Amino acid sequence: MAVKITRPQGTEDVTPKNIYKWHTLEKIARDTAECFGFKEIRVPTFEQTDLFLRSVGETTDVVQKEMYTVKAKETEFTLRPEGTAGTIRAMLQNGMLNDALPQKVFYILSCFRHERPQAGRLREFHQFGVEMAGSADPCADAEIISLAKNVLERVGLKNIDLHINSIGCPACRANYHDALKKYFADYKDKLCDTCLTRLEKNPMRILDCKSPICSEIAKDAPVILDYLCEECNNHFEKLQSYLKAMNIEFSIDPKIVRGLDYYTKTVFEFVTNDIGAQGTVCGGGRYDGLITELGGSPTPALGFGMGLERLLLTMENQGCDFMIPATCDLYIAPMDDNAIIKAMQLTQELRSMGYQAEYDLMHRGIKAQMKYANKINASFVMVLGGNELESGVAKLKYMETGEQIEISLDDKFFETFENNMINYVLKDTLIDFEEVK
Ligand code: ATP
Ligand code: MG
Repeated sequence: MAVKITRPQGTEDVTPKNIYKWHTLEKIARDTAECFGFKEIRVPTFEQTDLFLRSVGETTDVVQKEMYTVKAKETEFTLRPEGTAGTIRAMLQNGMLNDALPQKVFYILSCFRHERPQAGRLREFHQFGVEMAGSADPCADAEIISLAKNVLERVGLKNIDLHINSIGCPACRANYHDALKKYFADYKDKLCDTCLTRLEKNPMRILDCKSPICSEIAKDAPVILDYLCEECNNHFEKLQSYLKAMNIEFSIDPKIVRGLDYYTKTVFEFVTNDIGAQGTVCGGGRYDGLITELGGSPTPALGFGMGLERLLLTMENQGCDFMIPATCDLYIAPMDDNAIIKAMQLTQELRSMGYQAEYDLMHRGIKAQMKYANKINASFVMVLGGNELESGVAKLKYMETGEQIEISLDDKFFETFENNMINYVLKDTLIDFEEVK
C-alpha cells in the first residue's frame, strides 16, 4: 500500500474552512497600510545567500542556525527568513530610492526558518511588514509604530503592550560593547557556545539569547540607554514625546535588542501574554546602516514585521470577530438533462451579475442535492424538473425560513431573483447589523 505523505514539520495547511480568518487579517493589514500611504511590493521567495549574511548579520540566530540554504548549479540561494533584506534589495535594484522620498512599501509574505516547531513558532510562517526609506526623523519612527498599533486595534486585539528601546548608532554602541565585554568576561565558563563567539564579535547579541542560563546572566548587564550619544538620546526622547502626543502607550525595555543585526536607534516590540511563550506579535525598528551595507548611498530607513500566525492565535484566543465568509446565493437542483442546460444558463448570468450561484455537477437525486445545498449554506434553492421547464415557473425556497416564492423562468427571472435577495437575505443582514449596533 502506498504510504501517505504528510506536510513537513513546522508548516501549516489553511483549508477553505479557515481561509476567511486569513482574508480578514490580510484585508485589514492592506487597508491600514494604504491608509498610511504605503504601497504593496512583491519580492522573490529566495535570494542569493549573501544578501542575508550581509543584512541580517552573521552573529544572529537566523543566520547561524535557521536558514534554509540550497545550492543550485553552483550558486547558493536561501529561502527568505524575513522580508526586509529582499525588499531593500528590490528598492535599490529598481531605483526606487532615486524617486520621491520617503519610499513607503508593505508586503505580506511567507518566511522560512529552521526552528523547533511549537505553538506560534513555525518553519514556514507569514509576515505582514512595512519598510520606509528616506527619513531620519523620529516622527517616521512614530508613524510606523502607529501603523502597527492601528492594525492590532482594527483586528480587535486587546492587551497588547508596546515596548520600545534605543540601541544607538555605531558610535555610541562602541562604548557599550566594551562595557558588555567587561561584564560578560566574568561569566565565560557559564555562557553557551554561541554566546562565547558573540562575546568577541557582537556582545549585544547575548542579550537576545534564548538559553535560560544566558538570559539569567544578562539580567544585570549594563543597559544601552546609559551609553547613548546626544543625537541618539534626542531621537529617543522625541520619539517618546510623539507617541505621547498620539496617546500611544508604551514602556521602555532596555533589554530589547531585536534578533537582526541591522538595527540602529529605535527598536520596538508589541507583545501579548495571551498565547504563551511566543508572545511577540510584531517587531521592528530603524536600520540606518542597511542600505549602505547593501551598496546604496546612505539612506536612513525603518520598518517592522508582524507574525501573522501569532496574530491569528491571539485573535482566536481573545474571541475577535472575523469577516463572515460569502456563501452561495442560489443553488439550482436540476432533475434531468434539459434542466441541467437551463441551470447552466441561469447560473452563468447570475454570476455575471455578481451573485454566487451553483448547480449540481454530479447528477444526483433530489435528497442528496438538498443535503449539499444545506452543507454549503445556500440562501435560496430552486428545483428544476420537467414540470418547471414546461410551465416556465419554478419555486425559490428561502432556506432560512422554508418560505417558497414563485419565480418565472423567462427574462424576468433575474430581476425577480435580485428583488428577493434584497427582501430576504439583505433584510436579514440588516437586522443582524441593527442587533450588533
Ligand atoms: P523570536 O524572538 O520570537 O524568535 P524574532 O526576533 O526572531 O522573534 P523577527 O525576526 O523580528 O522575530 O520577526 C518578526 C515577527 O515575525 C516576530 O515578532 C514574530 O511575530 C514573527 N516570527 C518570527 N519567527 C517566527 C516563527 N518561527 N514562527 C512564527 N512567527 C515568527
Ligand atoms: Mg527568532
